[in-house]
Amino acid sequence: MSTPTYNFNAGPAALPKEVLAQAQEELLNFQGTGMSVMELSHRSAAYDQVHQKASALLRELMDIPENYDVLFLQGGASLQFSMVPMNFLPAGGTADYVITGAWAQKALKEAKLFGKPHIAATTEASNFAHIPTEEELQLSDDPAYVHVTSNNTIFGTQWTSFPETLQKAPLVCDMSSDILSRPIDVSSFSLIYAGAQKNLGPSGITVVIKRKDWKAVNSSIPTMLSYETHAKTDSLYNTPPTFAIYMLSLVLQRVKDIGGVKVVEAENNRKAQLLYQTISESNGFYTPHAAAGSESKMNVTFRLPDEDTTKVFLAKAKDSGFSGLAGHRSVGGCRASIYNAVPYDSVEALASFMKDFRKNQA
Ligand code: PMP
Repeated sequence: MSTPTYNFNAGPAALPKEVLAQAQEELLNFQGTGMSVMELSHRSAAYDQVHQKASALLRELMDIPENYDVLFLQGGASLQFSMVPMNFLPAGGTADYVITGAWAQKALKEAKLFGKPHIAATTEASNFAHIPTEEELQLSDDPAYVHVTSNNTIFGTQWTSFPETLQKAPLVCDMSSDILSRPIDVSSFSLIYAGAQKNLGPSGITVVIKRKDWKAVNSSIPTMLSYETHAKTDSLYNTPPTFAIYMLSLVLQRVKDIGGVKVVEAENNRKAQLLYQTISESNGFYTPHAAAGSESKMNVTFRLPDEDTTKVFLAKAKDSGFSGLAGHRSVGGCRASIYNAVPYDSVEALASFMKDFRKNQA
């Protein structure tokens, strides 16, 4: 088996090489403590610095207003599917869900356990190939909140902007697969959540950014599942995933060092453009899954003429050192996940591999 050089995994995904190198360097002796950061008490001053640094850097990079809490939780984005309705959906009440893919469907499923969510739009009929237009959004009269998924990891679609219409009630966004990939206006959301394992760090930590004055409507929420618990204790109610938070702090420092989110966005645009151009200039050999205008800059999904050719493509790609290019089992085809830490060089290598493969098939 060849060693994969180019990491296009959908998550857990590529991390910046510099970050991994620093973690390696500090692994046995973190900042003169004589022990690994993993071995420090979560109540120690040395760990507290890491914790505070991660939170301060995220605030700075995303320009998070003072009236928002930054929380470090566990349970993945999947637990947020439950925590959001558990805290904010009154029993029997309505919240609006925009269904743009499999993750949104999973979020909806959890909301049904607490109230009567309303589907404000679904693009399932087009196999989730597009993001709903403003006209397609049919919000209910008085939703407790509106839930959207900013980037649909499996189908490869992404909201380019969030229409005014969504602001009818507190807006909740699952930003798992595009957080920190572009500047966003945090103040237009009441709650943002993201599993870290795409753009922020390793799995095991979920970032939640929540407007402080948006209070839970339900009582009897289990302590660990109440946002209030974690907000009051600075995410130190119990033992947090200290190593994952340390890795997050290194990733955020790296984003700051290279110039911040705008620089990252420009690079992401360049990477996505190259792949979509390779697809569109292939004379129909490669076809995109996402409809024009809905293409994700994080997950580029495409098909080849048939299943057999796809299999050959994936096998050859693997031999050439490309990892993670098979599409999600529910969609088939191919998917290149080009998160923040995937270097432009890797994308160039993939574009060139795709061109050569097509030529050789002709
Ligand atoms: N939402 C989105 C958009 C995702 O891409 C994923 C994971 N791929 C999830 C939610 C679920 O995240 P987790 O595995 O952290 O629960």
